[in-house]
Amino acid sequence: MATDLRSVDLAKVRNIGIMAHIDAGKTTTTERILFYTGITYKIGEVHEGAATMDWMEQEQERGITITSAATTCHWKDHQINLIDTPGHVDFTVEVERNLRVLDGAVAVFDGVAGVEPQSETVWRQADRYNVPRLCFVNKMDRVGAEFHRCVDMIVNRLNATPAVLQLPLGAEADFIGVIDLVEMRALAWRGETQKGEDYTVEEIPATHVDAAKEWHDRLVETVAEADDTMMEMYLEGEEPSTEQLKAGIRRATIAGKITPVLCGTAFKNKGVQPLLDAVVEYLPSPVDIGAVKGHSLKDESEIIEREPEDDAPLASLAFKIMSDPHLGKLTYLRIYSGTLTAGTQVLNSTKDRKERIGKIYRMHANKREEIERASAGQIVAVMGLKQTTTGETLCGPEAPIILESMNFPAPVISVA
Ligand code: GDP
Repeated sequence: MATDLRSVDLAKVRNIGIMAHIDAGKTTTTERILFYTGITYKIGEVHEGAATMDWMEQEQERGITITSAATTCHWKDHQINLIDTPGHVDFTVEVERNLRVLDGAVAVFDGVAGVEPQSETVWRQADRYNVPRLCFVNKMDRVGAEFHRCVDMIVNRLNATPAVLQLPLGAEADFIGVIDLVEMRALAWRGETQKGEDYTVEEIPATHVDAAKEWHDRLVETVAEADDTMMEMYLEGEEPSTEQLKAGIRRATIAGKITPVLCGTAFKNKGVQPLLDAVVEYLPSPVDIGAVKGHSLKDESEIIEREPEDDAPLASLAFKIMSDPHLGKLTYLRIYSGTLTAGTQVLNSTKDRKERIGKIYRMHANKREEIERASAGQIVAVMGLKQTTTGETLCGPEAPIILESMNFPAPVISVA
Protein backbone atom coordinates (compact mmCIF):
# COMPACT_ATOMS: atom_id res chain seq x y z
CA MET A 1 0.00 0.00 0.00
CA ALA A 2 1.23 3.45 -0.80
CA THR A 3 2.46 5.42 2.17
CA ASP A 4 4.19 8.73 2.34
CA LEU A 5 7.34 9.94 3.90
CA ARG A 6 6.14 13.01 5.71
CA SER A 7 6.53 11.32 9.05
CA VAL A 8 10.29 11.05 8.52
CA ASP A 9 12.18 13.43 10.75
CA LEU A 10 14.75 14.97 8.43
CA ALA A 11 17.31 15.30 11.20
CA LYS A 12 17.22 11.51 11.42
CA VAL A 13 18.00 10.86 7.77
CA ARG A 14 21.50 9.94 6.60
CA ASN A 15 22.22 9.86 2.87
CA ILE A 16 25.52 8.04 2.68
CA GLY A 17 27.77 6.17 0.30
CA ILE A 18 30.42 3.56 0.92
CA MET A 19 33.64 4.02 -0.95
CA ALA A 20 36.56 1.66 -1.23
CA HIS A 21 39.35 0.33 -3.36
CA ILE A 22 38.20 -2.86 -5.05
CA ASP A 23 38.44 -5.86 -2.67
CA ALA A 24 38.69 -3.76 0.52
CA GLY A 25 35.29 -5.05 1.58
CA LYS A 26 32.67 -2.58 0.36
CA THR A 27 30.25 -5.30 -0.67
CA THR A 28 30.69 -7.29 2.52
CA THR A 29 30.30 -4.18 4.68
CA THR A 30 27.18 -3.15 2.76
CA GLU A 31 25.68 -6.60 3.13
CA ARG A 32 26.44 -6.63 6.84
CA ILE A 33 24.84 -3.21 7.22
CA LEU A 34 21.70 -4.43 5.47
CA PHE A 35 21.74 -7.56 7.56
CA TYR A 36 22.00 -5.73 10.89
CA THR A 37 19.50 -3.08 9.91
CA GLY A 38 17.21 -5.92 8.82
CA ILE A 39 17.45 -7.37 12.31
CA THR A 40 16.53 -4.02 13.83
CA TYR A 41 13.45 -4.04 11.69
CA LYS A 42 12.50 -7.40 13.10
CA ILE A 43 12.01 -5.86 16.52
CA GLY A 44 9.12 -3.77 15.27
CA GLU A 45 8.08 -5.54 12.14
CA VAL A 46 8.67 -9.25 12.24
CA HIS A 47 7.83 -9.87 8.60
CA GLU A 48 10.19 -7.31 7.21
CA GLY A 49 13.04 -8.48 9.40
CA ALA A 50 12.48 -12.08 8.50
CA ALA A 51 12.21 -11.21 4.84
CA THR A 52 15.48 -9.29 4.97
CA MET A 53 17.22 -12.19 6.61
CA ASP A 54 15.86 -14.64 4.07
CA TRP A 55 16.94 -12.30 1.37
CA MET A 56 20.44 -12.09 2.80
CA GLU A 57 20.68 -15.86 2.84
CA GLN A 58 19.46 -16.09 -0.71
CA GLU A 59 21.80 -13.40 -1.86
CA GLN A 60 24.72 -15.05 -0.17
CA GLU A 61 23.91 -18.38 -1.70
CA ARG A 62 23.66 -16.92 -5.14
CA GLY A 63 26.57 -14.58 -4.60
CA ILE A 64 24.57 -11.61 -5.85
CA THR A 65 25.15 -8.18 -4.47
CA ILE A 66 22.90 -5.18 -4.09
CA THR A 67 21.77 -3.88 -7.43
CA SER A 68 19.73 -0.86 -6.42
CA ALA A 69 21.36 2.55 -6.85
CA ALA A 70 20.00 3.54 -3.44
CA THR A 71 18.79 1.32 -0.63
CA THR A 72 16.88 2.54 2.40
CA CYS A 73 17.40 0.90 5.79
CA HIS A 74 16.89 1.83 9.43
CA TRP A 75 19.20 1.93 12.41
CA LYS A 76 18.31 3.10 15.90
CA ASP A 77 15.43 5.33 14.94
CA HIS A 78 17.27 6.77 11.93
CA GLN A 79 16.70 6.24 8.24
CA ILE A 80 19.86 5.49 6.27
CA ASN A 81 19.81 5.77 2.49
CA LEU A 82 22.81 3.86 1.16
CA ILE A 83 23.79 5.23 -2.23
CA ASP A 84 25.91 2.99 -4.38
CA THR A 85 29.24 4.58 -5.18
CA PRO A 86 31.33 2.77 -7.74
CA GLY A 87 34.93 2.63 -6.64
CA HIS A 88 36.63 2.29 -9.97
CA VAL A 89 38.67 4.97 -11.59
CA ASP A 90 36.94 4.39 -14.92
CA PHE A 91 33.66 5.54 -13.48
CA THR A 92 34.99 8.88 -12.31
CA VAL A 93 32.08 10.83 -13.73
CA GLU A 94 29.60 8.44 -12.19
CA VAL A 95 31.38 8.63 -8.84
CA GLU A 96 31.25 12.41 -8.96
CA ARG A 97 27.58 12.37 -9.81
CA ASN A 98 26.87 10.13 -6.84
CA LEU A 99 29.07 12.17 -4.51
CA ARG A 100 26.95 15.14 -5.46
CA VAL A 101 23.87 13.56 -3.88
CA LEU A 102 25.52 12.20 -0.72
CA ASP A 103 25.61 13.98 2.62
CA GLY A 104 28.32 11.74 4.07
CA ALA A 105 30.41 8.68 3.30
CA VAL A 106 32.17 5.71 4.82
CA ALA A 107 35.59 4.91 3.37
CA VAL A 108 36.45 1.22 3.80
CA PHE A 109 40.11 0.21 3.86
CA ASP A 110 41.80 -3.16 3.87
CA GLY A 111 43.66 -3.41 7.20
CA VAL A 112 46.62 -5.03 5.41
CA ALA A 113 46.84 -2.97 2.23
CA GLY A 114 45.79 0.29 3.91
CA VAL A 115 45.07 3.27 1.66
CA GLU A 116 45.14 2.05 -1.93
CA PRO A 117 45.13 4.07 -5.17
CA GLN A 118 41.38 3.90 -5.89
CA SER A 119 40.63 5.01 -2.34
CA GLU A 120 42.90 7.99 -2.90
CA THR A 121 41.11 8.91 -6.10
CA VAL A 122 37.65 8.73 -4.61
CA TRP A 123 38.86 10.49 -1.46
CA ARG A 124 40.02 13.48 -3.48
CA GLN A 125 36.75 13.56 -5.35
CA ALA A 126 34.91 13.55 -2.02
CA ASP A 127 37.16 16.40 -0.87
CA ARG A 128 35.97 18.43 -3.84
CA TYR A 129 32.36 17.93 -2.84
CA ASN A 130 33.09 18.50 0.85
CA VAL A 131 31.61 15.15 1.81
CA PRO A 132 32.19 14.42 5.52
CA ARG A 133 33.64 10.95 5.98
CA LEU A 134 34.20 8.15 8.46
CA CYS A 135 36.93 5.56 7.90
CA PHE A 136 36.44 1.87 8.57
CA VAL A 137 39.65 -0.17 8.68
CA ASN A 138 38.30 -3.56 7.65
CA LYS A 139 39.88 -7.04 7.55
CA MET A 140 41.43 -6.68 11.00
CA ASP A 141 41.37 -10.49 11.16
CA ARG A 142 43.84 -10.85 8.28
CA VAL A 143 47.46 -11.79 8.82
CA GLY A 144 49.46 -8.59 8.60
CA ALA A 145 46.56 -6.22 9.41
CA GLU A 146 47.91 -3.12 11.12
CA PHE A 147 45.49 -0.53 12.33
CA HIS A 148 48.01 2.19 13.16
CA ARG A 149 49.81 1.83 9.85
CA CYS A 150 46.49 2.44 8.14
CA VAL A 151 45.86 5.51 10.32
CA ASP A 152 49.30 6.84 9.32
CA MET A 153 48.43 6.32 5.67
CA ILE A 154 45.23 8.31 6.15
CA VAL A 155 47.45 11.17 7.27
CA ASN A 156 50.24 10.77 4.74
CA ARG A 157 48.41 9.70 1.61
CA LEU A 158 45.04 11.35 2.07
CA ASN A 159 46.17 14.45 3.88
CA ALA A 160 43.31 13.98 6.31
CA THR A 161 43.12 14.43 10.08
CA PRO A 162 42.04 11.11 11.55
CA ALA A 163 40.25 11.08 14.89
CA VAL A 164 40.88 7.58 16.21
CA LEU A 165 37.67 6.47 17.94
CA GLN A 166 38.64 2.85 18.55
CA LEU A 167 41.68 0.68 19.21
CA PRO A 168 41.68 -2.95 18.10
CA LEU A 169 41.51 -5.60 20.81
CA GLY A 170 43.65 -8.53 19.75
CA ALA A 171 45.16 -9.01 16.35
CA GLU A 172 44.68 -11.10 13.23
CA ALA A 173 42.91 -14.39 14.05
CA ASP A 174 42.66 -13.23 17.67
CA PHE A 175 41.01 -9.93 16.83
CA ILE A 176 38.05 -10.04 19.20
CA GLY A 177 36.79 -6.50 19.44
CA VAL A 178 37.59 -2.86 19.97
CA ILE A 179 38.20 -0.37 22.72
CA ASP A 180 35.73 2.46 22.32
CA LEU A 181 37.76 5.59 23.12
CA VAL A 182 34.71 7.85 23.31
CA GLU A 183 32.84 5.85 25.91
CA MET A 184 36.01 4.28 27.34
CA ARG A 185 34.77 0.71 27.32
CA ALA A 186 35.59 -2.50 25.49
CA LEU A 187 33.27 -4.12 22.95
CA ALA A 188 33.97 -7.81 22.48
CA TRP A 189 32.70 -10.34 19.97
CA ARG A 190 33.75 -13.71 21.28
CA GLY A 191 34.47 -16.37 18.69
CA GLU A 192 32.80 -16.36 15.31
CA THR A 193 29.82 -14.14 15.77
CA GLN A 194 26.63 -15.75 14.62
CA LYS A 195 23.90 -13.88 12.86
CA GLY A 196 22.22 -11.39 15.10
CA GLU A 197 24.53 -11.96 18.03
CA ASP A 198 25.59 -8.73 19.57
CA TYR A 199 28.83 -7.71 21.20
CA THR A 200 29.30 -7.65 24.95
CA VAL A 201 30.31 -4.44 26.69
CA GLU A 202 33.22 -5.06 29.01
CA GLU A 203 35.84 -3.35 31.13
CA ILE A 204 38.94 -2.30 29.25
CA PRO A 205 41.46 -5.11 29.89
CA ALA A 206 44.14 -4.05 32.40
CA THR A 207 46.88 -4.47 29.78
CA HIS A 208 45.20 -1.91 27.53
CA VAL A 209 44.21 0.73 30.10
CA ASP A 210 47.28 2.94 29.60
CA ALA A 211 47.02 2.89 25.81
CA ALA A 212 43.30 3.59 26.01
CA LYS A 213 43.87 6.63 28.25
CA GLU A 214 46.61 7.94 26.01
CA TRP A 215 44.50 7.57 22.86
CA HIS A 216 41.46 9.04 24.55
CA ASP A 217 43.51 12.12 25.42
CA ARG A 218 44.79 12.29 21.85
CA LEU A 219 41.23 12.09 20.59
CA VAL A 220 40.16 14.97 22.84
CA GLU A 221 43.13 17.04 21.61
CA THR A 222 42.42 16.28 17.96
CA VAL A 223 38.80 17.34 18.37
CA ALA A 224 39.80 20.45 20.35
CA GLU A 225 42.12 21.54 17.56
CA ALA A 226 39.23 21.29 15.12
CA ASP A 227 36.39 22.68 17.21
CA ASP A 228 36.21 25.98 19.14
CA THR A 229 33.84 24.79 21.86
CA MET A 230 36.06 21.83 22.62
CA MET A 231 39.13 24.04 22.49
CA GLU A 232 37.68 26.35 25.13
CA MET A 233 37.05 23.42 27.43
CA TYR A 234 40.49 22.07 26.72
CA LEU A 235 42.17 25.36 27.57
CA GLU A 236 40.14 25.57 30.79
CA GLY A 237 41.44 22.10 31.66
CA GLU A 238 37.89 20.69 31.64
CA GLU A 239 37.47 17.03 30.70
CA PRO A 240 34.50 16.80 28.28
CA SER A 241 31.65 14.48 29.16
CA THR A 242 30.96 11.65 26.71
CA GLU A 243 28.07 13.63 25.25
CA GLN A 244 30.18 16.75 24.87
CA LEU A 245 32.93 14.76 23.18
CA LYS A 246 30.42 13.17 20.79
CA ALA A 247 28.96 16.58 19.94
CA GLY A 248 32.47 17.93 19.29
CA ILE A 249 33.34 14.99 17.04
CA ARG A 250 30.09 15.51 15.16
CA ARG A 251 30.67 19.23 14.59
CA ALA A 252 34.28 18.74 13.51
CA THR A 253 33.38 15.84 11.19
CA ILE A 254 30.56 17.75 9.53
CA ALA A 255 32.87 20.75 9.13
CA GLY A 256 35.26 18.41 7.31
CA LYS A 257 38.06 19.06 9.79
CA ILE A 258 38.44 15.54 11.13
CA THR A 259 37.72 12.02 9.93
CA PRO A 260 36.70 9.54 12.65
CA VAL A 261 38.40 6.15 12.26
CA LEU A 262 36.92 2.82 13.36
CA CYS A 263 37.97 -0.76 12.72
CA GLY A 264 36.65 -4.29 12.49
CA THR A 265 36.10 -7.22 10.20
CA ALA A 266 32.90 -7.10 8.20
CA PHE A 267 33.44 -10.66 7.06
CA LYS A 268 33.41 -11.96 10.65
CA ASN A 269 30.64 -9.56 11.72
CA LYS A 270 32.80 -7.56 14.09
CA GLY A 271 32.61 -3.81 14.13
CA VAL A 272 29.71 -3.13 11.78
CA GLN A 273 27.19 -2.23 14.49
CA PRO A 274 29.48 0.41 16.06
CA LEU A 275 30.09 1.68 12.51
CA LEU A 276 26.34 2.14 12.08
CA ASP A 277 26.22 3.92 15.44
CA ALA A 278 28.94 6.27 14.21
CA VAL A 279 27.04 6.92 10.95
CA VAL A 280 24.00 8.17 12.86
CA GLU A 281 26.09 9.89 15.53
CA TYR A 282 28.62 11.76 13.43
CA LEU A 283 27.58 12.04 9.79
CA PRO A 284 25.30 14.92 8.78
CA SER A 285 21.59 14.89 8.05
CA PRO A 286 20.15 16.94 5.17
CA VAL A 287 19.31 19.59 7.79
CA ASP A 288 23.00 19.94 8.64
CA ILE A 289 23.82 20.33 4.95
CA GLY A 290 21.31 23.15 4.60
CA ALA A 291 20.23 24.91 1.43
CA VAL A 292 21.09 23.65 -2.03
CA LYS A 293 22.31 26.16 -4.58
CA GLY A 294 21.15 26.54 -8.12
CA HIS A 295 20.58 29.22 -10.70
CA SER A 296 17.67 30.62 -12.64
CA LEU A 297 16.83 29.36 -16.12
CA LYS A 298 17.45 32.67 -17.78
CA ASP A 299 20.56 33.82 -16.04
CA GLU A 300 23.28 31.54 -14.75
CA SER A 301 24.63 34.26 -12.52
CA GLU A 302 21.32 34.55 -10.68
CA ILE A 303 21.88 32.20 -7.75
CA ILE A 304 18.87 30.64 -6.07
CA GLU A 305 18.98 28.77 -2.75
CA ARG A 306 16.44 26.23 -1.60
CA GLU A 307 16.11 25.00 1.97
CA PRO A 308 15.47 21.31 2.72
CA GLU A 309 11.85 21.95 3.63
CA ASP A 310 8.77 20.05 2.55
CA ASP A 311 6.69 23.12 1.75
CA ALA A 312 9.41 24.84 -0.28
CA PRO A 313 9.19 24.53 -4.09
CA LEU A 314 10.45 21.22 -5.46
CA ALA A 315 14.12 20.96 -6.43
CA SER A 316 15.53 17.53 -7.21
CA LEU A 317 18.37 15.99 -9.17
CA ALA A 318 18.30 12.82 -11.27
CA PHE A 319 21.49 10.96 -10.48
CA LYS A 320 21.03 7.48 -11.86
CA ILE A 321 18.84 5.66 -14.35
CA MET A 322 18.49 1.93 -14.03
CA SER A 323 16.45 -0.75 -15.62
CA ASP A 324 14.52 -2.76 -13.07
CA PRO A 325 13.57 -6.30 -14.20
CA HIS A 326 9.99 -5.79 -12.96
CA LEU A 327 9.34 -2.08 -13.26
CA GLY A 328 11.37 -1.10 -16.30
CA LYS A 329 13.11 2.25 -16.35
CA LEU A 330 13.65 3.78 -12.92
CA THR A 331 15.08 7.23 -12.38
CA TYR A 332 16.75 7.82 -9.01
CA LEU A 333 16.23 11.28 -7.62
CA ARG A 334 17.67 13.20 -4.71
CA ILE A 335 15.07 15.63 -3.46
CA TYR A 336 16.75 18.72 -2.04
CA SER A 337 13.68 20.77 -1.27
CA GLY A 338 9.92 20.55 -1.52
CA THR A 339 7.78 17.46 -1.95
CA LEU A 340 7.61 15.09 -4.90
CA THR A 341 4.11 13.71 -5.47
CA ALA A 342 3.16 10.74 -7.66
CA GLY A 343 1.11 11.62 -10.72
CA THR A 344 2.04 15.31 -10.79
CA GLN A 345 3.71 17.31 -13.47
CA VAL A 346 7.19 18.68 -12.88
CA LEU A 347 9.60 20.70 -14.95
CA ASN A 348 12.84 19.29 -16.24
CA SER A 349 14.51 22.68 -16.05
CA THR A 350 17.75 21.50 -17.66
CA LYS A 351 15.81 20.66 -20.84
CA ASP A 352 12.93 23.08 -20.19
CA ARG A 353 10.39 20.30 -20.72
CA LYS A 354 7.51 19.08 -18.62
CA GLU A 355 7.59 15.54 -17.25
CA ARG A 356 4.94 13.53 -15.40
CA ILE A 357 5.98 11.68 -12.27
CA GLY A 358 4.63 8.13 -12.33
CA LYS A 359 4.90 5.86 -9.33
CA ILE A 360 7.43 6.66 -6.62
CA TYR A 361 9.36 3.94 -4.82
CA ARG A 362 11.57 3.70 -1.83
CA MET A 363 13.97 0.82 -2.47
CA HIS A 364 14.83 -1.54 0.38
CA ALA A 365 17.28 -4.41 0.32
CA ASN A 366 14.57 -7.00 -0.11
CA LYS A 367 11.59 -5.11 -1.49
CA ARG A 368 10.38 -1.87 -2.96
CA GLU A 369 7.82 0.25 -1.23
CA GLU A 370 5.46 2.41 -3.24
CA ILE A 371 4.94 5.84 -1.74
CA GLU A 372 2.56 8.68 -2.62
CA ARG A 373 5.00 11.44 -1.97
CA ALA A 374 8.54 11.95 -0.89
CA SER A 375 9.85 14.90 1.04
CA ALA A 376 12.95 17.06 1.06
CA GLY A 377 16.16 15.21 1.87
CA GLN A 378 14.91 11.89 0.51
CA ILE A 379 16.25 9.61 -2.18
CA VAL A 380 13.69 7.75 -4.23
CA ALA A 381 13.20 5.90 -7.51
CA VAL A 382 10.58 7.18 -9.94
CA MET A 383 8.80 5.50 -12.84
CA GLY A 384 7.48 7.21 -15.91
CA LEU A 385 10.13 9.80 -16.71
CA LYS A 386 10.65 9.81 -20.46
CA GLN A 387 13.10 12.57 -21.21
CA THR A 388 15.16 13.00 -18.08
CA THR A 389 18.75 11.82 -18.02
CA THR A 390 21.28 11.82 -15.20
CA GLY A 391 22.53 15.14 -13.95
CA GLU A 392 19.30 16.95 -14.83
CA THR A 393 17.11 18.96 -12.49
CA LEU A 394 13.42 18.29 -11.90
CA CYS A 395 11.61 21.12 -10.17
CA GLY A 396 8.25 22.70 -9.56
CA PRO A 397 7.04 24.46 -12.76
CA GLU A 398 6.00 27.43 -10.63
CA ALA A 399 9.52 28.00 -9.29
CA PRO A 400 12.15 26.88 -11.79
CA ILE A 401 15.74 26.29 -10.72
CA ILE A 402 18.69 24.52 -12.29
CA LEU A 403 20.80 22.91 -9.62
CA GLU A 404 24.47 23.73 -9.62
CA SER A 405 25.82 21.93 -12.63
CA MET A 406 28.69 19.61 -12.07
CA ASN A 407 31.93 20.78 -13.53
CA PHE A 408 34.06 17.76 -13.99
CA PRO A 409 37.71 18.49 -13.64
CA ALA A 410 40.08 16.16 -15.46
CA PRO A 411 39.95 12.82 -13.61
CA VAL A 412 42.70 12.32 -11.09
CA ILE A 413 44.32 9.02 -11.94
CA SER A 414 46.58 7.77 -9.20
CA VAL A 415 49.52 5.61 -10.04
CA ALA A 416 50.08 2.60 -7.82
P1 GDP B 1 34.71 -5.04 -2.55
O1 GDP B 1 35.38 -5.32 -3.85
O2 GDP B 1 35.30 -3.84 -1.88
O3 GDP B 1 33.22 -4.96 -2.65
O4 GDP B 1 35.09 -6.24 -1.56
P2 GDP B 1 34.27 -7.51 -1.08
O5 GDP B 1 33.33 -7.13 0.01
O6 GDP B 1 33.74 -8.23 -2.27
O7 GDP B 1 35.43 -8.34 -0.39
C1 GDP B 1 36.55 -8.79 -1.13
C2 GDP B 1 37.04 -10.09 -0.53
O8 GDP B 1 37.50 -9.86 0.80
C3 GDP B 1 35.96 -11.14 -0.42
O9 GDP B 1 36.54 -12.39 -0.68
C4 GDP B 1 35.50 -11.04 1.02
O10 GDP B 1 35.00 -12.26 1.51
C5 GDP B 1 36.79 -10.66 1.72
N1 GDP B 1 36.57 -9.89 2.94
C6 GDP B 1 35.69 -8.87 3.14
N2 GDP B 1 35.76 -8.42 4.40
C7 GDP B 1 36.69 -9.15 5.02
C8 GDP B 1 37.21 -9.18 6.35
O11 GDP B 1 36.83 -8.42 7.23
N3 GDP B 1 38.20 -10.10 6.60
C9 GDP B 1 38.65 -10.96 5.66
N4 GDP B 1 39.61 -11.82 6.02
N5 GDP B 1 38.17 -10.98 4.42
C10 GDP B 1 37.21 -10.10 4.08
